[in-house]
Amino acid sequence: MPISPTDVPVHPAEPPSFRAVLDQVSAFIYTTDRNGCYTYANRMVLELLGHPLEDVLGKDIGQFFDLSENDSLRETDRRVLQDGETVSREEVNLIRATGELRTYWSIKEPLRDASGAITGMLGISYDITENKRLEDEVRKQKKLLGTILDNIDALVYMKDANRRFLYANQHAAEALGHPVEQIAGRLDSELLPQAIADEFWAKDQKILQSGQRLATEASLPDATGRMRHYWSIVVPWSSPDGTPAVIGLSTDITELHELKEELQRQAATDSLTGIANRRSFHARAESEFARSRRHGTPLSLVAIDIDHFKQINDLCGHLAGDRVLRNFAGWCQSVLRTEDLCGRTGGEEFCILLPETDIDAAHALAERIRNLTNERLAAQEHPALRVTASFGVASQSAEDRRFEDLFSRADRALYLAKQQGRDRTALLRADSAA
Ligand code: GH3
Ligand code: MG
Ligand code: MG
Repeated sequence: MPISPTDVPVHPAEPPSFRAVLDQVSAFIYTTDRNGCYTYANRMVLELLGHPLEDVLGKDIGQFFDLSENDSLRETDRRVLQDGETVSREEVNLIRATGELRTYWSIKEPLRDASGAITGMLGISYDITENKRLEDEVRKQKKLLGTILDNIDALVYMKDANRRFLYANQHAAEALGHPVEQIAGRLDSELLPQAIADEFWAKDQKILQSGQRLATEASLPDATGRMRHYWSIVVPWSSPDGTPAVIGLSTDITELHELKEELQRQAATDSLTGIANRRSFHARAESEFARSRRHGTPLSLVAIDIDHFKQINDLCGHLAGDRVLRNFAGWCQSVLRTEDLCGRTGGEEFCILLPETDIDAAHALAERIRNLTNERLAAQEHPALRVTASFGVASQSAEDRRFEDLFSRADRALYLAKQQGRDRTALLRADSAA
């Protein structure tokens, strides 16, 4: 209820019930005469001043507050009492009784008599010291957080449970390809390619439902279309009103990711020929073997060993031997389908894995390669050189439990080819393999 100046008692003899009401109000309420001396003060003012009402009445306000450093207080009172202005403003008062600086929101109005002449002043003040302290604290925290978020080498963003971005720092905005101020309130699908937005949303949902943070690798193309990779930690968060959200912190690990991929590629590749090495050939062959078993599709393997390779080295030199190996690998690759796999499984030993291929088709392919081997590889190294190879062919059978079973059958077929005089293809069917 607004208090009009005319309702306020200007004399201590006002009705006690009205004073009781003013004593309950959480504000400092007082009146002064034209000279700025108290004519009334409510309970809060008296408690602040540390004196009973009778000690305060008729005394100048300056006796209770240290106004030496604060001329503006006197000036405000002058504007109210002499110029008849109403002033609303923030004030800082040094309380003499406690030596404490406190901040108030003060409203000061002139009191007038029936003829309109100023008789004094009504003052109402709210202590906003605590609010100010909290406001300052919040401002400080916000500034600190802003400095961290703008300088941290990570993408930081916040999304609600309806796929809307609530916040993105500078780095996140750049990754999303929009200015910072255009992020908040937009749906993920407006800012990201649909498939990626859906993938992120699936993770967000998992986090929102479980309440658990999630650390994963995520990929996103940049403005130039280059795929960038991030290590992303997403945590569940709920605002003070209980609205659920997620906060994501992603660090760009593109260089590290590419290095890891390159190292993986190198670890899987034979450095001389550039084709799969023994370890990666076996790893891929095992998964292909399992896949063929699951689907009941044929799978064949051709094991190859170049004949008398030692003599090639002896005749033409080790470097020429290397070239023969490289050329053989390259040529084999060129006659294969993309789903076939060629690996160097030993010094001058190679294997070809042929998915969806039965033993007869595998045999035909082995013969095709064998027939052209000398023509393709020998001539450029030495006129007297002859390069041949032996081939062992086997196909997956129902009894094979592991790829190793198929591999050892192809290897035995190769041994047979060597035994039978080299430069030939031997074939070992599962039922005749025992
Ligand atoms: P066989 O017909 O019985 O297979 O006779 P071979 O001489 O091919 O077989 P052996 O296993 O006795 O010799 C293989 C040779 O291959 C021995 C080795 O010096 C050579 N070799 C292995 N790896 C490399 C390589 O990376 N480069 C070169 N130039 N030669 C290699
Ligand atoms: Mg050998
Ligand atoms: Mg050999």
